[in-house]
Amino acid sequence: MISKNVQNISQSGIRRFFDLIIGMEDVISLGVGEPDFPTPWQIREEAVYSIEKGQTSYTSNAGLPLLRERLVEYIAEKYGISYDSKTESLITVGVSEGLDLALRAIVDPGDVVLIPEPCYVSYKPCVILAGGTPVSIPTTIEDKFKITPQKIKEKIGEKTKALLICYPNNPTGMTYTKDELLEIVKVCKEKNIIVISDEIYGLLSYERPHTPLATIDGMKERTIWLSGFSKGYAMTGWRIGYALGPCEIISAMAKIHQYTMLCAPIMSQYAALHALSSNSYKEMIDEFSRRRRLVVDGLNSIDLYCLIPDGAFYVFPSIRNTGLSSSDFSEKLLFEEKVATVPGNVFGECGEGFIRCSYATSIEKLEKALERMKKFLTRR
Ligand code: PLP
Repeated sequence: MISKNVQNISQSGIRRFFDLIIGMEDVISLGVGEPDFPTPWQIREEAVYSIEKGQTSYTSNAGLPLLRERLVEYIAEKYGISYDSKTESLITVGVSEGLDLALRAIVDPGDVVLIPEPCYVSYKPCVILAGGTPVSIPTTIEDKFKITPQKIKEKIGEKTKALLICYPNNPTGMTYTKDELLEIVKVCKEKNIIVISDEIYGLLSYERPHTPLATIDGMKERTIWLSGFSKGYAMTGWRIGYALGPCEIISAMAKIHQYTMLCAPIMSQYAALHALSSNSYKEMIDEFSRRRRLVVDGLNSIDLYCLIPDGAFYVFPSIRNTGLSSSDFSEKLLFEEKVATVPGNVFGECGEGFIRCSYATSIEKLEKALERMKKFLTRR
């Protein structure tokens, strides 16, 4: 009964792991992929107000004109790049929908999409569901989990259509400097590759301001820029994001969106409109940055070596010196010490030997989790 495409994808490794936690008490979760803060109250209030005013209808398919206008204005102010709100922007139901639309808009059966790994768990399944073939570009801790022009070239073939990149990265927290991006884009331009750039963690950049890929010379015309409000504004439940890109591609994505999603929820669009004029996310970022230092120092001090992540709210320590596989490590840590982490291999084979720890949880809980992890390791 089930289509081959769906048979070809498996359950999310994260979900499978989190099913183990159901019913367990006193678990400290370093597994979550969302801010532990509620959406800032000013944004919530704006959305409630929009409901009170009776704004409960569909909107135009591509999103409220007011929101798209504000979005491109915000992008121009923040990053110095201009988009036409009418033809080059689309409001989506989270980056999740944007990703699906982008892939379905450009991929023909058999087209290859290159995916640097470790990567977000949805990428490969979404490429398969769009009829494409995902090809991994593995990275290592020695490369700081970054791809290089050489690594891309090695994987490019006749069928290569796109590169699907994410920075700051889930699960490693690593990001690219402008100079590194300049090198990577040379290959994309030379080989005529479209880049789907998932920059959902762009606001959560601690070491330096985020450089959007589309701002690099010659990249605007080949970049589908996906971002949203889930992470930077703690708005995961609102399901709201956006895509910016060449009008031909945005209009193809909008064509699919009008028949499948129709439009993003109007109250979430009003909330997003307010978020774009709010600085409320800045406090959260300061707090994440404090936690990041605590977790990185804490993990390194118990010999779980990790790089200092530049962004997002994840660290990706090596557990190789324990001799355990990623799954065994995460499972034993959960059952013995009640600390939930995500095994690194769920983000791609090259994630084996690592675990993902999220610091989207309070300092108090992080300190307790580190103590428990220390106890766990002293028994090994
Ligand atoms: N992209 C990445 C890299 C993510 O980590 C996530 C969520 O964890 C998403 C996309 C999904 O985002 P949204 O809530 O906007 O659909």
